[in-house]
This record gives sequence, structure tokens and C-alpha cells, in this order.
Amino acid sequence: MKCTVCSKTAEIALRSHNSAFCREHFLLFFKRRIEKAIKDFNMFSKEKRLLIAVSGGKDSLVVWQVLNEMGYNTTGYHINIGLGIYSEVSENISKAFAKRLNRPLYVDYFEKEVGVSLREAAKISKKPYCSVCGMVKRYLINRKGTKFDTLVTGHNLSDESATLFGNILHWNTGYMGRQFPVLEDIGSLSRKAKPLIYLTEREIAAYAFFKEIDYALLRCPNARTTTGSFYKNILLEIEEAMPATRMNFLKAYFLKIQEKFREDVKLSPCKKCGYLTSQDICSFCRLKEKIKEGKK
Ligand SMILES: [Zn+2]
Ligand SMILES: [Zn+2]
Repeated sequence: MKCTVCSKTAEIALRSHNSAFCREHFLLFFKRRIEKAIKDFNMFSKEKRLLIAVSGGKDSLVVWQVLNEMGYNTTGYHINIGLGIYSEVSENISKAFAKRLNRPLYVDYFEKEVGVSLREAAKISKKPYCSVCGMVKRYLINRKGTKFDTLVTGHNLSDESATLFGNILHWNTGYMGRQFPVLEDIGSLSRKAKPLIYLTEREIAAYAFFKEIDYALLRCPNARTTTGSFYKNILLEIEEAMPATRMNFLKAYFLKIQEKFREDVKLSPCKKCGYLTSQDICSFCRLKEKIKEGKK
């Protein structure tokens, strides 16, 4: 198999793009996909201060690396959720990566911000770990993001098509109204952008491999097979039979349909902290109240 561009031996074949690339031309292809996403959705310019939400996994490290190489003004933000070895490794990898890029990284700790550990918080709120963890992380990342021009996350084509698939199956139109590659800041919600929207998990893993990016391979000890990964696998199967399905699915949605759902988004400021929420008091403040009651 030969590179579509230079006819050297190809190292990766991309059926959805009807191409194969040598290392050099794959890296170029990868960068162009990000440039295209930034341009198509008017994500940000070089003057803007970007906060990158860094988990230590491949998506967040790759997006940070590429934007840094392209000359964007980036700062990392990592949240340590306090789950033993998994969290230690994730924090250390994020810190080492910030050093490699020579960029600043902020680190916050779940327990310090919430007042109790994730395990206790899940018990107190009677919710699964993953939903409490996700809610707190979203809250903290958003809070930090408001201090920057745009908050950047590593969400990719595989994630976003699975999310859309799930939202359509349940007709969660309120969520669909907030699913877009770039979201302008409203109220207390920071401006958000997803530059990896045109790249799949496989492409991101290949980029990380070629660029020797050392990312966290440990799975969260609480993670179970989520509905998200179930949908992801179904879409992968469809993609096997019909390459580029996910890309067409997502792109057509964003360009032609998504706008129709924006008015279904019903958010108002939390009465305690001002964070936009679908309830009177946001989940983060309710959790903190319950913790306070428990301590009395
Ligand atoms: Zn080539
Ligand atoms: Zn609140």
C-alpha cells in the first residue's frame, strides 16, 4: 500500500477518506483536519487564550500538542478525582506533558473542591460514581474556563457521533440543542470548542503513536461499559460496512438540523452560584448542601 500523496510506503489506511498515508503525510492530514474544524466553526484565533481540559488521556494531550504546535496560546487544566493509582498516573502524565510543551498547567483536586472524596460524594448523593464525577468535573472545568476566552476539550468524531446517536434514540432535544462543535458563552457558561470533531479515535491514537505521546492507558477503576461505548461500537460496525458514515451523520446534523433544537435548551442561573442549570439550584450546589447537612 502506497501513500496517496507521495507514493512512499503507507503506514495507515483511512477508508473513510479513501486514502492511505506515510507518516509525514498522515501528520499533515491530521493537522489540516483540525485547521478545517477551527475554520468551519469559527472556533478561535491566535490572539485568544485557550484553556485545554487535560485528563491525561490521548484525546486531550493530542489536541493540546497540535494547538501548541500551531502557535495557539494554550494553558492546561487537570482535575485529580482522587482515585488512587489511576488519578496519580493521570496527574503525573498531565504534568510531564505540560513540561514537554513548556506550557502552564493548573491542577485542582476533587476532594479539596467538594469537601469529601468521590466515594463519599456518590454515597451522599445516592448517584453512581460516574455521574457525580462527570457533573463535578464539568462544573469545575467550566468555572476555570470562564477565566479564559475559550475552553477546549478533546471530544472527537467517535464521541460526538455516539452522543448524537444516543440523543436521537431518546429524542433528548434539550441536549441536542447544546451539542455543537463550538458553543458561545451564555451567562455563566464558558465558551467551548472541540477542534478534534473531524477526527476519529483511531486517527487520534495513530497521531499519539507517531508523535510518541505518552498518555494514560489506565482505565478509570469505576468505569463500566457505558451506553456511550455501546453506541460507539454500533457505529463502528456500521462504519466498517459503510465508511464515512459517522462523518456524514454528524456533519449533516451540524450544518442542516442542529439549529432547530437550540430553543429546546432550557437553562437558567443557579440561585446559589449562577451556574446555568435546568433546575433552581445546580447539581454541584445541591451536592455541597447535602454534604453540609451530613456534617451537622
Ligand atoms: Zn507520503
Ligand atoms: Zn450552583
